[in-house]
Amino acid sequence: MIGFIVWLWNWLFGCHHEHISWPITLGNRTYEVCCDCGAEFDYSWEIMAPKPPVTSAAALSRVTDVPIQHARRA
Ligand SMILES: [Zn+2]
Repeated sequence: MIGFIVWLWNWLFGCHHEHISWPITLGNRTYEVCCDCGAEFDYSWEIMAPKPPVTSAAALSRVTDVPIQHARRA
């Protein structure tokens, strides 16, 4: 189960690097930058951690909805 969570975490954030900057706030946006590949991660002060990318979260909800829709049809 832990392995799945780690895999899901990496899949969501798409970066395996460890050199992440401190949160940067420009205008209304706060984000962290990977110093190795330049990936940007929107940062939430509420949870004190990077937010999942919106596109990945939407994709995940679509994936998780598929079995439910099949179950309803069957
Ligand atoms: Zn990176």
